[in-house]
Amino acid sequence: MTQRFYARFTLWSALLDLEPDAPMPEHLFLCSSEEEDGTMCGAQSPAATDFPTIRAWATEHITEHPDHRSLHHVKATPWLMVPETEPWPGPVGRAHTTCTPPLEGTDS
Ligand SMILES: [Zn+2]
Repeated sequence: MTQRFYARFTLWSALLDLEPDAPMPEHLFLCSSEEEDGTMCGAQSPAATDFPTIRAWATEHITEHPDHRSLHHVKATPWLMVPETEPWPGPVGRAHTTCTPPLEGTDS
């Protein structure tokens, strides 16, 4: 998966970090079940690089709260920002991504 865009006059690519020293993706479960008052439980497992660890947390949580059956799986995956060419050093300016509305009475 790659996403490319311009920033600081350089084309950048956002890439999955597949380097050998890249951190392992981490997983966690977030309980999205509703409490009796309508609020979300929000309990979450510890982050882990292996899925069985968070599945064990889900089993413990459902044991303690048999009606909490909705979970969100959150996965944190390392990515890298890679420039097509190295940008020059200097202060980081504001990105030119805003749009100025036309002045009243003009056609622009
Ligand atoms: Zn819960």
